[in-house]
Amino acid sequence: MKELLSTDNAILQPLKIDFLSERGVQLFIQRDDLIDQEVSGNKWRKLKYNLVKMLEAKCDTLITFGGAYSNHLLATAKACQLAGVKCIGIVRGDELSSDSNLTLSRCAAIGMKLKFVTREAYSLRNEKIYKDELVQAHPGSFLVPEGGANYLGMIGCQEILVNSNIDYTDVFVAQGTSTTSCGLLLGESSATYHVVPVLKGYDSLGEMRRLFLTSGFDDEFIRELMTRVCVHDQYHFGGYGKYNDELISFIQMIYSEYAIPLDPIYTGKSFYALWKEIHSGRLDGKKVVFIHTGGLQVIPEIESKIGRRLFQ
Ligand SMILES: *Cc1c(COP(=O)(O)O)cnc(C)c1O
Repeated sequence: MKELLSTDNAILQPLKIDFLSERGVQLFIQRDDLIDQEVSGNKWRKLKYNLVKMLEAKCDTLITFGGAYSNHLLATAKACQLAGVKCIGIVRGDELSSDSNLTLSRCAAIGMKLKFVTREAYSLRNEKIYKDELVQAHPGSFLVPEGGANYLGMIGCQEILVNSNIDYTDVFVAQGTSTTSCGLLLGESSATYHVVPVLKGYDSLGEMRRLFLTSGFDDEFIRELMTRVCVHDQYHFGGYGKYNDELISFIQMIYSEYAIPLDPIYTGKSFYALWKEIHSGRLDGKKVVFIHTGGLQVIPEIESKIGRRLFQ
């Protein structure tokens, strides 16, 4: 499976800026966005062991779930194409079609069979009865939850920083399902993990606890892990998929000054949180790693919505 998609491109890039040196902040960006244009960042980390398990189980069709602009759906479509297995994407919204947007049309073009369901049906995606029915209707299928949010996904994310040989003190990462942040937390480090949920009202600690519990970790171990988590829940910009001019201008500024492309759904928000924390002085003297989780496939969509280019 390692040869399917190499992570060699995912370098740890130092960002040298005068105001950082003045504060004694060392900043590195883990460029998981460079793994692949379509199988962006953390989505490959989360799919990797799911694909391994699926092939071991001799299944031939991966079934997963996602919304209209889902990075996970596109990553799954591309990874399955590379692995030579079939895949079905169950999409939230029966008003949609494969012509609705670039994400969905690309998924369809590279071989994902799209099934559009009502929001009501979609809400059943984690129910046992619904999942059993799906597997029965598609013999030889292997289910991966929305966002790749399962134990195997988490274990894949544990690898994100394993080869970094710097003794970082702080890590910043965006949160959707918490799978990535939980995996990072399992890495061998005593660093502080700054998590930035992109959903409004998201219970970061509760969701992380839940994923650890369902993965079989015991209470004491989980409690200990969670003491290293710092939640920044004031940077969701109104909720999932919401953004404003301030965030867009920030993303444009970061690109034009430092050539780091960010997206307005996940990494723009987490980088914004990091920037605020740096300027507050709370990271003075720290060695910080920002996890660039990817998500850049939505950029053309966003640009056509806001009517201007983000990266120039
Ligand atoms: C899916 C996604 C996330 C969220 O990761 P979780 O493991 O669901 O918390 C963060 N960044 C990007 C770019 C994503 O596509």
